[in-house]
Amino acid sequence: MMPEDYKYARQMVLRQFDRDDISRIRNARVMIVGLGGVGSLIADLFVRSGVKKIVIVDRDYVASSNLYRQTLYSEDDIGDSKAEAARRRLQKINSEVEIQAINETFDASNAEDLVSSVDLVMDGTDNLTSRLIINDACVKVGRPWVMASAIETYGQVKAIIPEKTSCYRCYFTNEPFPQPTCAEVGVLSSLVTAISSIAFTIGMKILTGKEIDGSIYNLDIWNMDLDRILVDRRKDCPACGLHNYEYLTDRYKNIGLEFMP
Ligand SMILES: [Zn+2]
Repeated sequence: MMPEDYKYARQMVLRQFDRDDISRIRNARVMIVGLGGVGSLIADLFVRSGVKKIVIVDRDYVASSNLYRQTLYSEDDIGDSKAEAARRRLQKINSEVEIQAINETFDASNAEDLVSSVDLVMDGTDNLTSRLIINDACVKVGRPWVMASAIETYGQVKAIIPEKTSCYRCYFTNEPFPQPTCAEVGVLSSLVTAISSIAFTIGMKILTGKEIDGSIYNLDIWNMDLDRILVDRRKDCPACGLHNYEYLTDRYKNIGLEFMP
């Protein structure tokens, strides 16, 4: 057994993965957009699993109010760039993984270039606009992504595989509406952990080519309810049906500090 085989032995021995799957994981490049609670945990799990490269994108700074759920940061990091603090921590966890930290807002000005550079995009954002930008960019350039949201005690996860599953825009039959934020209504830390784990599992299945559909999984962790809603592709979906990528237009470029993710 090679030393690196030992390092990942408990993952490699899983009956769900064969040798080719392990090689796919070891060669994967994964981007995490947003390094809050969900993004922190997803980044941690992928780095520990031994992927080739992680790209982490966030323009925010660590605050004391983040620490109860954002597990990559400690009190020493308060005031630092999240991207840089996360890079430091992730590199200590696994020195083999290449980590690219981008301290920028993910918006229509950089979305296509960023998602093109990886094999899988994971959603660590906490707002609808960012998710719709990720969706348009991933559908346009053909990259799978996993939507993950957590607010109060409710979370959602959905896989989007362009040309195969429904996309995130297929889910909105009406115009997207403003939603409350974690700052307004809070989020339970254990929900963040659970949603990150579900999203990571779906991400690993995508990387290894396992069967995935476009269902939305809804978790209410307070009442221990998990349900699944089938989401069909819509011929009139603005993104995957009509290829009209409005969230990549100038209106969503350089959205900067007035844009609160
Ligand atoms: Zn669609």
